[in-house]
Amino acid sequence: MLNSLFLDFRRRVPRGHQRLMLLCLFSISVLLLWPSPQRQAQSGMGVMPLLLGIGLQHAPQQLDALPLNQFSSWIGDKLQTDPVEDPFIKIYNISAGDSLSRIFSRYNLGYQTVQQVMAADESLLALDVLRPGNKLTLQLDDAGQLQSMELYIHAGKKVLYQRVAEDEFAYQELLDEGVWQKDILVGDVFGSFYVSAQRAGLNDADIYNINQLFKDRLNFARDIQAGAQFQVLRSENYVGEETTGQSRIEAIRILNRRQVLTAFMHDDGQYYDANGDSLERAFSRVPLANQARVSSNFNPRRLHPITKRISPHNGTDFPLPIGTPILAPADGVVTRIENHPFAGKYIEIQHFGNYKTRYLHLSRFNVQRGQRVTRGQRIALSGNTGRSTGPHLHYELHINNRPVNPMTAHIPLARPVPAESKSAFAARVKQLTAQMDQQTLLAKQQSNTEESAAD
Ligand SMILES: [Zn+2]
Repeated sequence: MLNSLFLDFRRRVPRGHQRLMLLCLFSISVLLLWPSPQRQAQSGMGVMPLLLGIGLQHAPQQLDALPLNQFSSWIGDKLQTDPVEDPFIKIYNISAGDSLSRIFSRYNLGYQTVQQVMAADESLLALDVLRPGNKLTLQLDDAGQLQSMELYIHAGKKVLYQRVAEDEFAYQELLDEGVWQKDILVGDVFGSFYVSAQRAGLNDADIYNINQLFKDRLNFARDIQAGAQFQVLRSENYVGEETTGQSRIEAIRILNRRQVLTAFMHDDGQYYDANGDSLERAFSRVPLANQARVSSNFNPRRLHPITKRISPHNGTDFPLPIGTPILAPADGVVTRIENHPFAGKYIEIQHFGNYKTRYLHLSRFNVQRGQRVTRGQRIALSGNTGRSTGPHLHYELHINNRPVNPMTAHIPLARPVPAESKSAFAARVKQLTAQMDQQTLLAKQQSNTEESAAD
């Protein structure tokens, strides 16, 4: 019965309309699957599809019907078809130095298609810097035109770009928060802290974060003594069996001579030492010397001023005369200096912990990629580059890789643990310290046994 309805639909409705109707149906099912925040918090995982772009304006408010896995199987059917069997699906593994236009020209897709996909990616900027190890899956139609493209970033993050009109694409993020698995890693310092930490199983990002946590209290190159102990409680993110490459330090102790350095992540996501004093460096609310007028607020459902479509506004706009100095709101490392056809000249800074900021439509860069910056340092001059309605700064703040409202988000203010959660924090410090000590003891016993076995 359903089958014959479907066949009937295919016979009667012209192909272009079919596509549009299917897309609408698809958009609605995505919204049906959108989990409520409560459920998200309860399960702590699950697929969280965000449909951004067309279709959102027809959204039913709250529905709770289809099973979550139906969504992933739709994508599965569409994109995971065996590429050998299907000549219209192309899978491309990204390697160093690749650009979207070079990859597209390989499949005879013109620069116009590159522009259309880049326009869809304007507010996400996921395609601007292609990372080795990521994967693109392209679906072409029988005329060789691009219909959709999936960017695989890691097991918990994919982006789907879908043709929604003759000359337009819309994007959709497919996110799976996965689960965080805890692990205690312990070791002694022999040689540099870096090498010793790596030997214990910590990755470069973990080691960088540890350095940042204690940089005001310890010079890792000079002051750390051979034989110093370290204990780290680390969480790693998994989707199924696969790690997404994301990890975070939940607690750390370094026992160096008579000095004990500690850091514990509290339930506000910020780090404090065992006494509850903040280890965060304060963040400025705006990246400017003075407060400025806001012309456009953070708004995930904004009507785009130029394209007139629903398109998220992932930042705050400050109208500024061209050449206004932009100041780093916190310490960090410059991770991107780019020139995008729509975002214009832009900078991205990775800050301590899970904070990241972006500055769009600049006229001039005052920093280079890879450079360390400190709070208040001039990083650029504002401008009007890219697709812009007038001279302004578009400022974004991301926490845990999600854009948040820079004007209202919870930012580190370098204050001690709030009074109301002080006792809970102290209890957690006690419990985790005991667990980490236990792990150190076990590791020592194990290495003693191994030594005596070797004798
Ligand atoms: Zn903006």
